[in-house]
Amino acid sequence: MPGRYIIGLDMGGTNLRCAAVSPAGRVLFLERGAARADSAASAVADNIVRQIKSLQTEARRRAMGSPRAIGVAVPGPLNVYSGVVMAAPHVAAWRAFPLRARLETALGRRVVVENDANAWALGEYWRGAARGYRNVVLLTLGTGVGGGVIVDGRLLHGKSGMAAELGHVVVEPQGLPCDCGSRGCLESYASASGMRNLVVGQIGKRRAYQGRYLDAEGNFSVRALTDAARNRDRVALRAFEVAGRYLGIAIASFLNIFNPELVVIGGGVAGALRFMRPAMTAEMRARAFSAMAAEVRIVRAALGPLGGVVGAAYAAMHPEVRKRA
Ligand SMILES: [Zn+2]
Repeated sequence: MPGRYIIGLDMGGTNLRCAAVSPAGRVLFLERGAARADSAASAVADNIVRQIKSLQTEARRRAMGSPRAIGVAVPGPLNVYSGVVMAAPHVAAWRAFPLRARLETALGRRVVVENDANAWALGEYWRGAARGYRNVVLLTLGTGVGGGVIVDGRLLHGKSGMAAELGHVVVEPQGLPCDCGSRGCLESYASASGMRNLVVGQIGKRRAYQGRYLDAEGNFSVRALTDAARNRDRVALRAFEVAGRYLGIAIASFLNIFNPELVVIGGGVAGALRFMRPAMTAEMRARAFSAMAAEVRIVRAALGPLGGVVGAAYAAMHPEVRKRA
């Protein structure tokens, strides 16, 4: 019996999400696990295999047959054609690691691998905020800043599938150093750690840790910073204003390059979009071609933490949106 579901797995720095997704893009059920990203290279892959097998067992128990296709989203950079992860920032052991070959050998069938932000873009395009649009730029403002670009209904991959690292466009030439080796990247200002940089830059490290903007464990928290902004906290509002300005500088370039109809913004920092929006819009309008700025809408992502699993399932089922031109 052909299966009635597709497997979509999304691996983050700490968690794995693995879902049975219907052919119409609905999440039928979801399992979670630890990513074990600090393990040895093959152990991280074995952990993915275990999660997929667990989902298959549950699907059989529910009389859903076997999966039609399997899609796996992981942090890049990743060569989507060879299935080799070049160097994932959150998986120290994955250096030129042949992930897809490992998964296919262990599972005994074809697996599609995709960069996590690209998968999220496909998820929003299929079932989320970008439904019905053909030209979309997605930015994920999380631990880092990821990007995915859909041009004329096709995911932009480039030569090896590493295109659209939008978090690493330079918005400040002499700016803060970035993990990628450059400096002044968008990620240094508009990610969770970027927000921390912007708070520390205003009031110094010590005061930043005196009870403000912290979660229950005492770590800097974007959610706490967003709550502070809601209460008109001056430092928080200023941090989001500065982040919004850098975001607007970057988006202006994305408009000039890709002419999208829609920019979708997801991730934890996107919860503060309304505090970033005035500076972001002003900067975007001042820098982008006015005809393109007038046509674009900027919205929050709709799928939240399910964007990656839905998009991974879509990637597995729709080779045409991700095939090499
Ligand atoms: Zn960078």
